[in-house]
Amino acid sequence: MKLQSRLVMGFLIATCLTGAVATVVGITTINKSTLDEVQRKVQQDINTAKLIYRHALERLEYQLEFIYLRSPLQEAILNNDPGALSGLEGLIRTGTHYFDDRRALDMLTLVDANGRVIYRVANPEAKGDVILWDPVVRKCLYEKKPQASAVVMSLETIKDQNPRLASRVLIPIVKTPQSVEVRETTLSQGMVLRAAYPIFLKDGTLLGALIGGILLNRDYNIVDTIKETVYQHETYRGRDIGFATIFLGGVRVSTNVINADQQRAIGTIVSKEVYDQVITRGEDWIGRAFVVNDWYISSYTPIYDIDRNIIGMLYTGILEAKYRDIKLNTMWLFLGITSLGMVVAFFISFRLGQSIIRRIRILKQATEAISSGNLEYQLPPGRSSGFDMLDEAFNNMARSLKDRDDRLQKAFHRITRTERLASLGQMAAGVAHEINNPLGGILLYSNLVLEEMENDHPCKGNLEKIIYQTNRCKKIVQNLLDFARTPSGDMRPISINDVITTSLNLVKDQSMFLGITVKHDLSPQLPLIMGDSSRLEEVFLNLFINASDAMEGRGVLTISTWLSSTNAVKVSISDTGKGIDRLYLPHIFEPFFTTKDPGQGTGLGLSITYGIIQKHNGFIDVDSEPGKGTTFIITLPVYLGSEDKPGMKSSDAIQGAEIG
Ligand code: ADP
Repeated sequence: MKLQSRLVMGFLIATCLTGAVATVVGITTINKSTLDEVQRKVQQDINTAKLIYRHALERLEYQLEFIYLRSPLQEAILNNDPGALSGLEGLIRTGTHYFDDRRALDMLTLVDANGRVIYRVANPEAKGDVILWDPVVRKCLYEKKPQASAVVMSLETIKDQNPRLASRVLIPIVKTPQSVEVRETTLSQGMVLRAAYPIFLKDGTLLGALIGGILLNRDYNIVDTIKETVYQHETYRGRDIGFATIFLGGVRVSTNVINADQQRAIGTIVSKEVYDQVITRGEDWIGRAFVVNDWYISSYTPIYDIDRNIIGMLYTGILEAKYRDIKLNTMWLFLGITSLGMVVAFFISFRLGQSIIRRIRILKQATEAISSGNLEYQLPPGRSSGFDMLDEAFNNMARSLKDRDDRLQKAFHRITRTERLASLGQMAAGVAHEINNPLGGILLYSNLVLEEMENDHPCKGNLEKIIYQTNRCKKIVQNLLDFARTPSGDMRPISINDVITTSLNLVKDQSMFLGITVKHDLSPQLPLIMGDSSRLEEVFLNLFINASDAMEGRGVLTISTWLSSTNAVKVSISDTGKGIDRLYLPHIFEPFFTTKDPGQGTGLGLSITYGIIQKHNGFIDVDSEPGKGTTFIITLPVYLGSEDKPGMKSSDAIQGAEIG
């Protein structure tokens, strides 16, 4: 469980970190690119607004030129009689409020070359005064060129020009905590677009000028044109997205920003921050700004009069909410993806952890099984566990452990058997040796007595039996001595195949072999071995006779020879006889062990065989399946062909040869 939670934690931390970094980087990038984009747009918007504002000034100029071309202005100046100009009254905007007549003017004045008023179209009674205080008029008359600019005019001056404008000029001032400080409670100045057009005689003498004016207070032509051109009625969540404003100083005199009462926010004041930067220092402002009741990405630019004094500002702004929402949505999206990634990572890691732990448990069970001695244990193949390599390594380990264990067991059995047989052999040889001489004496004296005995002596039969049985004893003793005896010393390089063939020839025609099929598969390229052929013949005769006994005259005897991978000569003798009981198997090489009826077997055959093979530095193994047959396998070291001489001891000859 601990491993699993660590895996899950690891996965989660990795996804969490990646997700967090991706979110932060993503949000920062999007933030920056959105901000850049919006600021670029706002910059474009303010440039468009400036164009529209300049266009309004130019249009005023064209209007004056048009009037100049169509009206008898020269005569009126020359005769000081404006009577002929009464038709111009139709150009003056009537009504006290803004209405959508874009050609209408608020002021139209005719002056002579000295700036003296000849005719005020909107106020014909007021004339004769000199209006050189107006910088636009002054510049026009001095430079004899058309001029246009915004100017600030006091309420009184404006009233002189057109008495009906008073109500448009007066704007109640609305202060907010952020706004710049303003002393007045009502605005009593107007921002006026002024243009002056010079009037000449045909000879080029300056006669005077025609002066027009449009009061921007509560005139929404320019701001609404900007809004339509730039924002094209675009809305966001039911609200217009962009707005434009003209400020006189810091006061909104013309705007389409809407206040809480759904009215144009006329009279509201700009924030101190913006005021200081734009009006006081004359720099553009681009950035977030709180406008009336919401945050806008805003742009402010100063409005200059003809003498380059800053008299107000032009403003465009986009509702920040849209971009704020884009930002928020992106953030949520990123967070969502990250969380989803984490959930997926959690499940994957959980499942992965489970499968790993399941496999580890199986491995643990397997290890326990092996340590408790079950070396046969093999891991079941796991379905796409990803542990194949480990499984394979484990199974290989188990197999090689089993292999080694088997070999150890075999070696152990062989050693214990060898030791047991060696001590038995020693004892038997000792006993045989002790008995051999007395037996010789018994035989000698018995024979002497028999020779002297009359043929019809009643004891003669018994004496002959004594001699017969004593001879049998002598034979047994001889066999026992053979079992312990070192090969006679007649050791020479011989072919084991030849020894086997000779032994076979001795028995195969005997009656006991008549019903037995003999098969042999003797390897022709077998190296020689160092051995005593007569003693080895004895070994094979013993084994053949035992096999024939076990098959009870009917079956197959198979003899094969080959060179083993460990470079030893191997001989196998297999029969299809009754086999050896598992209980007897460990004892068959012991002297006197026999399962045959008394008088049938002495139980010495295999022990002598064992002794002879042992003396050849080889060994003999048996494998038997009761009811099916028995196989004896003899392993003998190869003769290496050193300076062996006939009669040399085999142990010298096989130095370095592998026996096992
Ligand atoms: P003996 O042949 O005199 O009994 P051995 O030492 O030759 O003595 O054999 C010992 C015992 O091993 C036999 O009595 C028999 O039970 C068993 N034995 C030997 N060879 C075979 C064989 N080929 N098939 C079955 N049993 C065998």
